[in-house]
Amino acid sequence: MSLVPFDDRDGFIWMDGQLVPWREAKVHVLTHALHYASCVFEGERMYDGEIFKLTEHNERLIRSAEILDFKIPFTVAQIDEACKLTAAKNGFDNCYVRPLAWRGAEQMGVSAQQAKIHVAIATWEWASYFDPALARKGIRLTYAKYRRPSPETAPTSSKAAGLYMICTISKHAAEKEGYSDALMLDYRGYIAETTGANVFLVRDGVIHTPKPDCFLDGITRRSVIGLAQKMGFEVVERHIPAEELGTFSEMFITGTAAEVTPVAEVGEHAFQPGNITFSLMDDFSKMVRRQLQPA
Ligand code: PMP
Repeated sequence: MSLVPFDDRDGFIWMDGQLVPWREAKVHVLTHALHYASCVFEGERMYDGEIFKLTEHNERLIRSAEILDFKIPFTVAQIDEACKLTAAKNGFDNCYVRPLAWRGAEQMGVSAQQAKIHVAIATWEWASYFDPALARKGIRLTYAKYRRPSPETAPTSSKAAGLYMICTISKHAAEKEGYSDALMLDYRGYIAETTGANVFLVRDGVIHTPKPDCFLDGITRRSVIGLAQKMGFEVVERHIPAEELGTFSEMFITGTAAEVTPVAEVGEHAFQPGNITFSLMDDFSKMVRRQLQPA
């Protein structure tokens, strides 16, 4: 696979209020965030010139930062505008948008009360999170070695960089074994999410989804619940023990990057992507392109 490194591209990145040439958007090696994971981020997507649920995402960015005890020195409206400006400056109508905020290099050590809070926004083209050939066939998942921690152990409702350490380890292990991703259970053994998307399961025409009490309540997740309810489906949010996996017929995951992606397999359990998954995939695709009212 030939990779275009992310630090060596043409274009512009918005940094602390200014658009800077892509290759000059740098931080120092003694940046607090790099040592202590004092960083929060968002993943957003622009479809045909409009960023889906832009304000909701940037509100979450600010909330994520507050949970980590830092205050972003920009308003939601300013970050919204900056996201649009960055995409426009890079000439994108369809792209991924990555705002992030982090503690700088003014202070080093666990305590960093005086460290400055920085904000940056980058945009790039990102067509499909998984192999497009699997878009309707479904991806294969294995189980992650790590579990989603309890809210008493980590700031689980923040989209904080530090919480992704166990995701990268788990996704690497899955990929090494030929799977697309890994299913993470939570600290109690309930089904939580994958390493970057929320989970839905279907049984007897009813849609079940884990209660997001120790992992991210995805913006895509909430949109898809709304779409499903509008279609007349019952959606049950509850704790789902891993032992129940074998009782479901369809499974899919949702996220800004993953969109709505069917799952064909989790370890020993097989699923058949079916009508409910396909209808939600199609309606989600219409909704983000404004051919269907947001649910
Ligand atoms: N869980 C995790 C761990 C994620 O990284 C993401 C992607 N941000 C999601 C769930 C889905 O969230 P959203 O629909 O808001 O993108």
